[in-house]
Amino acid sequence: MHESCGVFGVYAPNEDVARLTFFALFALQHRGQESAGIATADGRRIQFSGDMGLVAQVFNEESLAHLTGHIAIGHTRYSTRGSSRKINVQPLIIGPGADSFAIAHNGNIVNAEHLHQELCEQGYTFHTSSDTEVVGNLILSSPEKSLVDKIRYAMHRLQGAYSLVILTKDKLLGVRDPWGVRPLCLGSIDSGWVLASESCALNHIGAEFIREVEPGEVVYIGEHGVESYREEALRRALCIFEYIYFARPDSVINGRLLYPARQAMGAQLAREHPVEADLVMGVPDSATAAGIGYAREANLPFCEGLLKNRYVGRTFIEPDQRIRDLGVKLKFNPLPQLLEGQRLVVVDDSIVRGTTTPKVVDLLRRAGVKEVHMRICAPPIRYPCFFGVDMATRRELIAAHKSVAEIRDFIGADSLGYLSIEGLIKAVDLPREIFCMACFTGDYPIPVQLEMDKLALEATIPAEEQAPRVGVKER
Ligand code: SF4
Repeated sequence: MHESCGVFGVYAPNEDVARLTFFALFALQHRGQESAGIATADGRRIQFSGDMGLVAQVFNEESLAHLTGHIAIGHTRYSTRGSSRKINVQPLIIGPGADSFAIAHNGNIVNAEHLHQELCEQGYTFHTSSDTEVVGNLILSSPEKSLVDKIRYAMHRLQGAYSLVILTKDKLLGVRDPWGVRPLCLGSIDSGWVLASESCALNHIGAEFIREVEPGEVVYIGEHGVESYREEALRRALCIFEYIYFARPDSVINGRLLYPARQAMGAQLAREHPVEADLVMGVPDSATAAGIGYAREANLPFCEGLLKNRYVGRTFIEPDQRIRDLGVKLKFNPLPQLLEGQRLVVVDDSIVRGTTTPKVVDLLRRAGVKEVHMRICAPPIRYPCFFGVDMATRRELIAAHKSVAEIRDFIGADSLGYLSIEGLIKAVDLPREIFCMACFTGDYPIPVQLEMDKLALEATIPAEEQAPRVGVKER
């Protein structure tokens, strides 16, 4: 399962804002590894540099030196809408001349196709297949005068998840959708201000966390400091997977540091699904803390049974069948000397399609593990996500059509236990009402009927007869 993106913004006269953005994107690399981009502004013009690949591959001294100014925004991307091509690298530059702005987006717009059609009828042209351009052109199309009012106009039309950073030639803006699906926080740095998907990006560049950007809020940053504008917040719906998997364990969201929250998930799993075992491990990196929590609660030793080969970007894997066939071996390397003959509890963050877990179980068995007991930090995923998580259609979700016992047999484990919804909420220790948990319950906080109807229709049409879906990534 993949999340869609990381965004960052900085307004700081006298700082090398491009370099600060580069290091912040480094800290947000886990949120997207397909492409990276930075736009800067110096009061007169906007400059952009970006490409496919990891942050360290895209930028070098020369490209950073060309990105001058005192304002910058940056983006790391994993595409959930719009194909993985250079044309879709963000930030996108929207609009002509003095009114142009750069925009970077984390999330997914549910009514993007409808808005796209409407904007095309009004004469707007599109150069990418990403829904971010729909957001940008919608802002541009607003009859309002000021940029803040134009954004607020767009917010009334947009359905879906969006945490945005926007840069004009002399201002920085941050926007969070009224449901607050994706995180966005505000911080300060010596002579200025920063915005980031996660607080870990602030820590790395010496910025101080101030607060979250609230659901429905627009923050407007310029020479007079930070101004805030609020749209009415709707039903709160922060994605619970930020706590389980997406965000880095050293990030703080809603005042809760993720590392202990994940440890608590593991401890709760140990209480809900105890088993006779010798060792506990977490599938790295996202389930490491939960693995430690399980081990501590169960009074069992913790081990790092799999070593992770970090940041194997999918751009470099997907085009080559032979490389793709290597599968999890590209990602994980087991330690047979530690694992041989052991009854092992393996804690993981989720099972989506059920394609990766059997390979992990197989890898561990080949390393000599005697028993594999899978423990999952999330309840079964039975419904697709429409808010920026590249999950699957309902047909592809293994828990949508198999029981827990059937999934256990399918993945080849000796036992399987999922964390309950109540146990998950207890571990996160925040009110249940602030979360989206639609992929467990089917209770979507934002209307998704059109999208669901479309998926249901497509399920009845053979793939080869389906029309290509403009602007929507082939899954
Ligand atoms: S449906 Fe699931 S993955 Fe998607 S936003 Fe809601 S909780 Fe997150």
